[in-house]
Amino acid sequence: MTRTTGFATRAIHHAYNPFENDGALTPPLHLTSTFSFETAEAGGEMFAGERAGHIYSRISNPTCDLLEKRIAVLEGAEAGLALSSGMGAITAVLWTLLSPGDEVIVDKTLYGCTFAFMRHGLAKWGVTITHVDMTDPANLKAAVSEKTRVVYFETPANPNMRLVDIAASSEIAHSVGAHVVVDNTYASPYLTRPIEHGADIVLHSATKYLGGHGDVVAGLVVGTAEQISEIRLVGMKDMTGAVMAPFNAMLILRGLKTLNLRLDRHCASAKVVADYLQAHPAVSEVYFPGLENFAQHDVAQRQMSQPGAMIAFEIKSGLSGGIEFMNRLNMIQRAVSLGDAETLIQHPASMTHSTYTAEERAEHGISDGLIRLSVGLEDVDDILADLEQALPYPARSAA
Ligand SMILES: *Cc1c(COP(=O)(O)O)cnc(C)c1O
Repeated sequence: MTRTTGFATRAIHHAYNPFENDGALTPPLHLTSTFSFETAEAGGEMFAGERAGHIYSRISNPTCDLLEKRIAVLEGAEAGLALSSGMGAITAVLWTLLSPGDEVIVDKTLYGCTFAFMRHGLAKWGVTITHVDMTDPANLKAAVSEKTRVVYFETPANPNMRLVDIAASSEIAHSVGAHVVVDNTYASPYLTRPIEHGADIVLHSATKYLGGHGDVVAGLVVGTAEQISEIRLVGMKDMTGAVMAPFNAMLILRGLKTLNLRLDRHCASAKVVADYLQAHPAVSEVYFPGLENFAQHDVAQRQMSQPGAMIAFEIKSGLSGGIEFMNRLNMIQRAVSLGDAETLIQHPASMTHSTYTAEERAEHGISDGLIRLSVGLEDVDDILADLEQALPYPARSAA
């Protein structure tokens, strides 16, 4: 009888047997750059791909290998790949899939450095970049053609929380033979598994929820064994060299063990914070998939098991009021990144998304007054109290 184990059990046990490792409960950290070949012939066979085994840690390493297996099983994919950062993952995937003359269709809203990579990297090397508002699949349908090789999006998107319907978009992309690549950093596989909805490749900034403790920069990719092998041997080994350090793989393995527990708490607190912000007279807009009046509430219900813990909002006093509000915060930290135990706040227009010009931000739906909040694991009453004392006037004023 076979039984499928649950998410947490896989995150803790998958692909590791202590009795193959001197009984060590915790997987060993393999700090080695290279690996010895028993014979010259064995080494040659490994290079030829005829024999399994590790050659050199820019290609594979046992500690990274365990992490790759764990993220693959959590995302429901055949294989995984560990890279030095989220950007290392994004660039290795796209350099591998795209050639000059190809088109990549991307959503209007992208993480700032992904947006910048399109300009500094892909566009310079003859790839056509087409930005489409993917919140409506009809726009994607109108844009795809035989030239489209990759359809790429984030859901929820950083920083404005727009969602993309993964199933509808994948069907449209596949109708022209394009690969669907999803940046699943905001949701993590605990909330959304894009491959179950038809995506081909899923990638992460593991710096965020997967690591979860703000102590590492790392990236992960999953897909079919064939796709991952190509991204490993071309995009990572030869083009970017963006390999994950084994020590960082160990930190992410540790983070994964509590991913579901942390996210349950992150999500519960975020709902309380979103409700609080929405009711506050100083706040004009709150973008959070868990609110009934969120424009894409239905998409959230179809593809997210919980609405996540990232909130974007605007306050009525605009950009200057927002800066003053952020400066009054005491416990909540003014910092980029997200998914840490600490609640973090930042201003996309001047920080993470300053890679866009002012005109581009306006066109891509990133308003100058938008504030991004990553709800942490502190007691929610303390998060609320800090927001309350920092917002321009009390929520329960006479009004
Ligand atoms: C942070 C982030 C990235 C980049 O990841 P790094 O680990 O910082 O390189 C990519 N996509 C999203 C959605 C992010 O939030």
